[in-house]
Amino acid sequence: MSLAYACVHSDPPSACDLCNATLCEDFMDAKTVHGPWANLCPTCFRDHGVGLGTGRGQHYRRQPDGKYVKIEG
Ligand SMILES: [Zn+2]
Repeated sequence: MSLAYACVHSDPPSACDLCNATLCEDFMDAKTVHGPWANLCPTCFRDHGVGLGTGRGQHYRRQPDGKYVKIEG
C-alpha cells in the first residue's frame, strides 16, 4: 500500500483530550457523543466517538518516520 498521497496530520496531538493518555500508535480526530470534536485514544474513541467517516471522525496511525497518516475515515 502506497502512502504517497495519504493525508498526513499537520499537528498531531501528544495526548488524548479526554483521558490524557499519551498517544502512541493510533489516535482518532473524531466527533464525540457529547458534541465537540476531540483527539481521542482508541479506548475513548470506542466509548465516546460517534464513528468514522466524513463529518464523524478520522483514524490516524503513526508511521515509522513519526508522521501520522489517516488510515480510515
Ligand atoms: Zn483517551
